[in-house]
Amino acid sequence: MENKKIILLFFSILMTLVGKAQNPIVLNILNDVNMDSLTFFVKQLTGEEQVIINGLPDTIFSRHKDQPGNEKAFQFVKQKFAGYGLQVDSLQFSATGKNLLGIKIGTTYPNKKFILGAHYDNIGSTVAPGADDNASGSAAVIEASRVFSGYTFPFTIIFALWDEEEQGLIGSNAYASLAASNNDTILGYINMDMLGWDGNNDSIADLHVRPVASSLQLADKAMAADTVYNINLGLHVVNPGTGATDHAAFWNSGFTAIGINEEYDGDFNPFWHSPADSLGQFNLPFYEKCAKLAYATLGDCALDSMTTVSIDESLITNGNIKLYPNPTTNGITVDLGTIFFKNITISVFNMKGELLQMVSTDSSSKIEINTEGLPSGIYYMGVVQDQTMMGMKRWIKL
Ligand SMILES: [Zn+2]
Repeated sequence: MENKKIILLFFSILMTLVGKAQNPIVLNILNDVNMDSLTFFVKQLTGEEQVIINGLPDTIFSRHKDQPGNEKAFQFVKQKFAGYGLQVDSLQFSATGKNLLGIKIGTTYPNKKFILGAHYDNIGSTVAPGADDNASGSAAVIEASRVFSGYTFPFTIIFALWDEEEQGLIGSNAYASLAASNNDTILGYINMDMLGWDGNNDSIADLHVRPVASSLQLADKAMAADTVYNINLGLHVVNPGTGATDHAAFWNSGFTAIGINEEYDGDFNPFWHSPADSLGQFNLPFYEKCAKLAYATLGDCALDSMTTVSIDESLITNGNIKLYPNPTTNGITVDLGTIFFKNITISVFNMKGELLQMVSTDSSSKIEINTEGLPSGIYYMGVVQDQTMMGMKRWIKL
C-alpha cells in the first residue's frame, strides 16, 4: 500500500471521529461569546467601570474579603445571574465568607451537575484591582452564564463564584466538602483562575489535572475541545495539578475536576497581587481562547452523558495492539502482540489528521516511537499490515 493511500485511509477515519465530536450547540455558544461583554465585566469587577447595585451606581474597588467591594461584587453578580434567568443560591460559610451560585436546572438529569467556577475575592486590602487574579475568571463565569442561558441542557449547570480563595480555598472547600457529605452528583468541575496573561504570546495555557474520579477523562475532553472547536491553545498538561487554587477543593473531596489557566510556570504574570494587575496587561486573544476552551468543555459535558471523549471503539480492529506507557512523556512503545510483524507501517497522527511520523518494520513486534518533539495533546497511532488496517489507537502526550 502506498504511503498516500495509508494517509488518506487514516485521515478519513480521523475526520469521522473529530466530526462526530463537534456539537452545533457548542459552536453556537462559542459564537455568542462577546469580547466587549467579557472585558466590560472585568472592568466592572476592577473599578474601571461603574456597576448598578440595587438601582444605584457604585464602584467595586478591592474585592478582598474585608473590603466593601467584596460584598458589592457578590451583589453585582447575583443580579446578573438573576437577570439571565438562573436560580440564585449562596453558601455563607463564615461571618465574612459567601459563595455565589447561579443554577441552570438540567431538563433530563436535574440532580447531575457540571460546575464552572472561579474565585471572586482578591488579595490587597486597599488598592489592588485583581484583574487577572481573578476578575478574569469571574468575568468568564458571568459571560458563560449570559451565553449559556440561551440554551437548554440535559444536565444541570452551576455557575459558581467562590469567596476567600486567597485565604486558602476556604469557599470552595466549604462547598465541595458539603457536596461530598450530601452525596451530590457533581460530574465535573472546571476552574478558571487567571486567564489574562500571556507575556510571551505563545498561546500556551495550563490544564491542571490529578487522577481523581474521572478528572483525566475531563482533561481529555478539554484537549479534544481545543482541537475540535479550533480554539488552538497549546495545552500544557500539569499532572499532578497545583493544589493552590479552587479545583483542588474538588479533588480533595473526591470529585472530577480540572483547572484551565495561564501558565503558572515559566510565564507568570509579573503584576500578580500588585496594584498594576489591570485589564490593560491582558493578552485579549489569549483570554478569549481560555474562556472559550472552558465553555466548549462545559458545553460538551452538559449536552452529553459521557464525560469521556467519544471514540468509536469498533475502529480498533485488533485488540492485541498495545501502547505503553499511555499517557506518555518521551516515548511510546507499540506492541503488536500476536500480529505477524511483516510489512507493518505505523503512523502517528494528530487530531487534525496531520501525519507526524511514519515508521515501517519487518522485523520486530515492539516498536519504539519517539514523542519528545510533540506538544501535549491527543494523538492516534495507526497500524497497517500489508494492505489491511490492523488497528487505530488513541494516546496522550503529557
Ligand atoms: Zn487566584
